[in-house]
Amino acid sequence: MTTLTVPATTQLLIGGTWRDAGDGATYEDRNPANGATLARVAEATRDDVDAAVAAARAAFDAGKWSGMTAARRAKILYKMAQLIGERSKELALREVRDNGKTIGTAKGEMGAIVDCFEFYAGAVSKHYGQTLPPPMSTYLANTVREPVGVVGAIVPWNFPLLLASWKVAPALAAGCTVVLKPAPATPLTAIELGKIALEAGVPEGVLNIVTGSSRELGQWIVEHPAIDKIAFTGSTVTGKLVAQTAAQTLKRVTLELGGKSPSVIFDDADLDGAVAGALYGIYYNAGQTCEARSRILLQRGIYDRFIAAFAQKAALIRVGDPEDPQTHVGAITMREQFDKIASYCRIGAEEGARAIVGGAAASLPGDLAGGMFWNVTAYEAKASDRIAREEIFGPVVSFVPFETEAQAIALANDSEYGLSASVWSQNIGRANRTARAIRSGTVAINTPYAVFPGVPFGGYKQSGYGRELGLETMNLYSETKSVLTYIGEKPLNPFGV
Ligand code: NAD
Repeated sequence: MTTLTVPATTQLLIGGTWRDAGDGATYEDRNPANGATLARVAEATRDDVDAAVAAARAAFDAGKWSGMTAARRAKILYKMAQLIGERSKELALREVRDNGKTIGTAKGEMGAIVDCFEFYAGAVSKHYGQTLPPPMSTYLANTVREPVGVVGAIVPWNFPLLLASWKVAPALAAGCTVVLKPAPATPLTAIELGKIALEAGVPEGVLNIVTGSSRELGQWIVEHPAIDKIAFTGSTVTGKLVAQTAAQTLKRVTLELGGKSPSVIFDDADLDGAVAGALYGIYYNAGQTCEARSRILLQRGIYDRFIAAFAQKAALIRVGDPEDPQTHVGAITMREQFDKIASYCRIGAEEGARAIVGGAAASLPGDLAGGMFWNVTAYEAKASDRIAREEIFGPVVSFVPFETEAQAIALANDSEYGLSASVWSQNIGRANRTARAIRSGTVAINTPYAVFPGVPFGGYKQSGYGRELGLETMNLYSETKSVLTYIGEKPLNPFGV
């Protein structure tokens, strides 16, 4: 077993220096699986945010980072990838204890984080401007890509280091400086990322990290006049507030928000593959996944067989100790989230939805008796039921029947969200027609895996705007500057005077 050296009290990273919060305040960070205290975490004040932003601004304005050659900046990002890889065991365990996710899930994430840093390290030297057709024969015209400036990166608790990396890696690759704010419940791996960045050679002030338990902390970052862009992942409700606040200073904003993503399963789907994919699509990370396939739309001909097979396999899913490699589903990360899941299961029962699997908290023995665990749960529901329409963000899925391809598409699109979808069919024409008709940022056909570096990820509709993970993401961390050069022999004299 890897040992952890979580410090008793964590600090803020500001201008390359680790320091306590301005007034010395801290809050307690606990393991959701057993209630154990993991650390006391620095509670940043507004002055601390100002200091972090000032450090990021100064580093940006001095050109310490953006002025480096692309090759040098890329090498530093590759070094970060290497250090993350070397420490992945310890980072994974830290994530497990902070978040409650399973060790298997966390290890997979660490590999994906290495891939993400490597992808953007490779992108640094390929982020070109263009030579344009000149508007006049005496002109040269070209564009250059310049970093957008200081980025405020705000992340949720469900994939703490992964989602931080989706922002920090492209922001650094584009030459930006960053103030990173992890979620209150899961700050520990972001702090490690700060250490890794310094060790890899990221200059002082380029990556700053502020932690805290209040909602104001994020608000202060979004309001701050010296920040140029906000990269936010979180709920749609908070995302709307972020957009409103950022509008006051016309900051650039990318929003990765909530979802109620469907698995659309046609009669002709491979039953085993579709069942395995649908189980993973909802129960992976205890359903605390923005792209969780929390609606399973089933064509009539396969409806009963699918539900029977799903229930049989769901009974084999092990909810338990997150640190046990045999566990499939770990703890629910936060009390509020646990209560929300419980309340949706009550709502489901009130709405007349029929529980096929689960529907209640899981009681575990020993040290885990005080932890927050929920049994994998599935309901037969109506498309209009709240449990089939609203984001629950837990291991709860609804089965809804359909008859025709057109109905499947209408049901899939009948949502305020549009983050992801899956389509299961052996008919490639039908699968692709359906994929094209669904209004969401990602559609996976006959596979549970659809998130990879290099493949843009983001939402339609109220799932947000902007894309992460793609090469195009580099554009969202940069501005286009047009440069026009007059090359005529005679000077221009527009007024003729
Ligand atoms: P949340 O919106 O409550 O919080 C997200 C982050 O914003 C946290 O760091 C929080 O401290 C901060 N915050 C809170 N109030 C703020 C404010 N007024 N201004 C600025 N920042 C503020 O979300 P959560 O509960 O942490 O995460 C769950 C949500 O995130 C779900 O809705 C999920 O779908 C979504 N999510 C989306 C994606 C995606 O890529 N689309 C990925 C993961 C999670």
